Amino acid sequence: MRLSDPVTSCKGIGPRTAEAFCRLGIHTAGDLLRHYPARYDTIGQVQPIAEAPEGKVVSVRGCLSAEPRVLRTGRKPAVSVAASDGSGRVSLVWFNQPYLKNVLHKGDIRIFRGTLTRNRYGLSLIQPQIFRAEDYTEIAGSMRPVYHTVKGLSGRLIASAVTQVLEEADLEPEYYPADMRRKESLAERNFALRTIHFPGNEEALKMARDRLVFDEFFFFILAMRALKSDRSKAANGFPCTAFSWSEKLISGLPYTLTEAQTEAWEDIRRDISGSAAMNRLIQGDVGSGKTVLALLSLVTAAENGYQAALMAPTEVLARQHYEKFVKLFEELSLPVCVGLLTGSMTPAQAGKVREQTAAHEIDLLIGTHALIQDSVSFARLGLVVTDEQHRFGVRQREALSQKGGEVHVLVMSATPIPRTLALILYGDLDISVIRTRPAGRLPVKNAVIRPEDRPRALKFIRNQLEQGRQAYVICPLVEESEGMQAANVADTAAELAEVFAPFRTAALHGRMRPEEKNRVMEEFSSGEIRVLVSTTVVEVGIDVPNASVMLIEGAEHFGLAQLHQLRGRIGRGKEQSYCIFLDSSGDEEENPRLAVLGRENDGFVIAEEDLKLRGPGDFFGVRQSGTLSFAIGDIYTDSAVLQRAAAAADRILAEDPGLEKEEHRQIRRKYGEFVSFLCQPGL
Ligand code: ADP
Ligand code: MG
Repeated sequence: MRLSDPVTSCKGIGPRTAEAFCRLGIHTAGDLLRHYPARYDTIGQVQPIAEAPEGKVVSVRGCLSAEPRVLRTGRKPAVSVAASDGSGRVSLVWFNQPYLKNVLHKGDIRIFRGTLTRNRYGLSLIQPQIFRAEDYTEIAGSMRPVYHTVKGLSGRLIASAVTQVLEEADLEPEYYPADMRRKESLAERNFALRTIHFPGNEEALKMARDRLVFDEFFFFILAMRALKSDRSKAANGFPCTAFSWSEKLISGLPYTLTEAQTEAWEDIRRDISGSAAMNRLIQGDVGSGKTVLALLSLVTAAENGYQAALMAPTEVLARQHYEKFVKLFEELSLPVCVGLLTGSMTPAQAGKVREQTAAHEIDLLIGTHALIQDSVSFARLGLVVTDEQHRFGVRQREALSQKGGEVHVLVMSATPIPRTLALILYGDLDISVIRTRPAGRLPVKNAVIRPEDRPRALKFIRNQLEQGRQAYVICPLVEESEGMQAANVADTAAELAEVFAPFRTAALHGRMRPEEKNRVMEEFSSGEIRVLVSTTVVEVGIDVPNASVMLIEGAEHFGLAQLHQLRGRIGRGKEQSYCIFLDSSGDEEENPRLAVLGRENDGFVIAEEDLKLRGPGDFFGVRQSGTLSFAIGDIYTDSAVLQRAAAAADRILAEDPGLEKEEHRQIRRKYGEFVSFLCQPGL
């Protein structure tokens, strides 16, 4: 088996299963190895029933007190029996496994492992795993991978496919020189891959993860450095001297620019009228008002006779920008012709936009990564803006800027990263920071609640709806999933449609068809849909100022930065906004991450708190996501590794800039793969 072979070359994976793997972005055997576990399940020691904690996964030894009974209460037949160990008694229930009746008998002693819950009849374990004592001793203390998965695909199947690939595929040889590995204390590549999936113990897992994180950062930094040396000497081929359209825009806005916005705009003006091409990052917290800076730059490019492009990470966001800009240009009668290009347009529509772009009939083209396809060409591209710079923006930015000579580049990011990290990650860019928010905004009021308070929260939301407001409800999952117990969009939307009737509720998630997503987003923007039940797809950029309340279900499943981004969707209008974090973990203690969000609204402060709370090596927690997320590395908690990787990359490049030496040949090969991976459409 080769790593490039399709997943169907694994035993037990037919076309239907392959389809499900596809939805996880897994097409080849190699992709399977890169599907790292979301977390690990440590098989704990057996506990006396009376001492086992409720709400947690526990293992207890029990003697069956009777013959199992088959119950037919619900739709699914259930097998039920009680077990006791002298310290206590627990009832056991299995659904859809009627054969268990013939396997288990009165007096049998087994180990049962599952989540211990209490209802009015006492303690119970639903669907516990069953082990013989001697088998359990062998696995006690070991760690099992738990994979993120989708409907129709069990975690067990993923694990068995990964095992097959690890056993049968020709894994690639180590590509770092031996002395580099020694100096950086890096585990061997294939050991790391094996161990990340099936760790022997925590220490080995740490080593493995360290290696994989290092790799990810190392190649990312190499790519960054290549970009920087390409661009650092570029002269300003698109000088801008006329600024009357931007002035008209500023005076036509319904608000005045904040001081921070004005300063950033001055930075941009200086860049685009100066002697070198602009390469600037605008870093500002969610809601700090970055869009208007993009807008000012874009109209200025147009006024000076250049075309400009704005790339957004999602179609929903691209469309929103398009509609707002078109409306504004009409109101102010600015003669900017705007085009929209996204993946879901028909070939005929897209073809027309491409023609108009090539003929310079379109001044400003807005879109998703459809913009960087080879078939898009500009007559006179002078400026490229990327909104919500995300993980592989570097290459996309480069691909887009290559569509015109050395064009001006403006990147906007809401990721509040400390300056030292920004310098590593965005080493090729100048940085303007927007620290203050528009004045007169009421800070969002926050509440962290427990499941028993949910009905009250729903009542509160209903009250907001009655006052004319709109609401977001965020769920961790799209649909039921085996890997994770958490609220999902499908069920929650169905429930809330009834609860909030006659107000309209709709669902939004990444797996919907693009047209469908657009329709829902448009109807939410226009206020026809009043409650939007969504996954984190609303996390980036969406601006619906009338939405004043957000309920985040299963908030403990999200990372701090991500929760902050989500909350950034509200508090954008004049009304008081409310964010309700529902902690459904069942833990008694207060969740420290949620506590931070409860009292703090400033993204920079939150990022620092996050760092303190998690600390390096805290990788069993919830992964950071949103902007700048890597497959496994985390720029915050792995910042030490990031710095090591940056130093190592710089050392190698200083000694061998073209990676031409024999000992760097494998690194160069791997780098080529990495870069072509980054340039894949759809990333
Ligand atoms: P982000 O930085 O998250 O991209 P946006 O650019 O979407 O933020 O701006 C958030 C909201 O604030 C928008 O509704 C925008 O119209 C508004 N806004 C931007 N600048 C100002 C300002 N100076 N005063 C008042 N409102 C502003
Ligand atoms: Mg934005």
